[in-house]
Amino acid sequence: MNEVQLEVAKAYPNDSGRGIARLDPDTLLHLKLSPGDIIEIEGGDTTAAKVWRADRQDWNTDTVRIDGFTRQNADVGIGERVTIRKAEAEKAEKLVLAPPEEASVQFGSDAAGMVKRQILKRPVVERDIVPVMSSTNHPFMRSPGQAIPLIAVETEPDGVALITEDTDVELREEPISGFEKTGGGITYEDIGGLQNEIQRVREMVELPMKHPQIFKKLGIEPPQGVLLHGPPGTGKTLLAKAVANETSASFFSIAGPEIISKYYGESEQQLREIFEDATEESPSIIFIDELDSIAPKREDVTGEVERRVVAQLLTMMDGLESRGQVIVIAATNRVDSVDPALRRPGRFDREIEIGVPDEVGREEILQIHTRGMPLSDDVELSRLAAETHGFVGADIESLTKEAAMKALRRYLPEIDLDEEDIPPSLIDRMIIKREDFRGALNE
Ligand code: ADP
Repeated sequence: MNEVQLEVAKAYPNDSGRGIARLDPDTLLHLKLSPGDIIEIEGGDTTAAKVWRADRQDWNTDTVRIDGFTRQNADVGIGERVTIRKAEAEKAEKLVLAPPEEASVQFGSDAAGMVKRQILKRPVVERDIVPVMSSTNHPFMRSPGQAIPLIAVETEPDGVALITEDTDVELREEPISGFEKTGGGITYEDIGGLQNEIQRVREMVELPMKHPQIFKKLGIEPPQGVLLHGPPGTGKTLLAKAVANETSASFFSIAGPEIISKYYGESEQQLREIFEDATEESPSIIFIDELDSIAPKREDVTGEVERRVVAQLLTMMDGLESRGQVIVIAATNRVDSVDPALRRPGRFDREIEIGVPDEVGREEILQIHTRGMPLSDDVELSRLAAETHGFVGADIESLTKEAAMKALRRYLPEIDLDEEDIPPSLIDRMIIKREDFRGALNE
């Protein structure tokens, strides 16, 4: 059979949640494919995607760009290889979607129709995660710009099923249990800028988790702790979550200030428990936010509790045996205030600075946070990126939300708040304009 093996690369920010795979002209020719055709992607699992043409920069690199959902569906990570072949897609008669375990979703009356419109002409394989974009024009969704992962619990026929106008799409509110893929979670596509930083974190964390034998062979110790430092709101937490998600590691989070307890011994107890759970459920990532608050320089330490917590943390880190399988990532805004004892070899001995994004980074972050938003043609993200010097990721996220709220206020007079359902025609018309961003910027 005609097939090729390609290396998986992450999707462009704008491609996320669209079920597409970008292939270069050589591959298209070789597999006799045209843009719009459906392919099968086989990694640990098999899924399908619609073919798009790769950007010139990717030509002859032997890669395929797919987003985090498709990667989960194919059970592969970035940098791993998949087999690609043309799919025998059949028209889907029926598709049943349900939220994953622990997710609770409420669907409005026209939700099935809206979901169908979004996934029209896309291929779905049973057990796939099907991301459905939430946006201001989907009243049943949580926050704009985020994809709601639904699970294809049933397709008819099975195999690669193509959604058409005639497909009967059914939405179930009852979450489905026992599915390993959850679709939830942050992927690398959710992080704007920070290419080099992501690369470094992947080398330090993903590599030892996935391939501990490399470190063993070379006789080097995989890192135990990685310290991310930089201003607040730049994506440190996001990065830690993405690595955990992309490596399928368990994620444990400790908020620095919260673990400091007044009760004698309680903080140490909590720390111990988290490290024990993480070891039991390894591979795991323990994320400690605001490390400086629990482990300030000792001369700064006023409280007895802090001193004991630092001592306990040092003990736990030194005691980690499953080298490379439990990695502690800590974040701080004030790297100089962190106890130097914690920065010695075997502890947080790798540091990565996460800085304020430049213009290119800002544009990517804008793309990410407006992904599911209905933007008017007059909104130029590149121009907004140029005008938001000094903004960090969190600022850009607030800006896009504020712009959406401004747009919403324009439509409010037309909305009858006593009516349960908003007319679909109004929802279809809703759009976020340049003036909304202007207004949000001027606040
Ligand atoms: P930090 O941990 O550095 O204080 P967070 O990772 O918690 O910052 O960022 C807060 C929010 O801001 C994130 O949830 C995200 O929505 C947004 N954000 C921050 N940095 C980025 C980025 N580089 N790309 C996309 N969104 C970002």
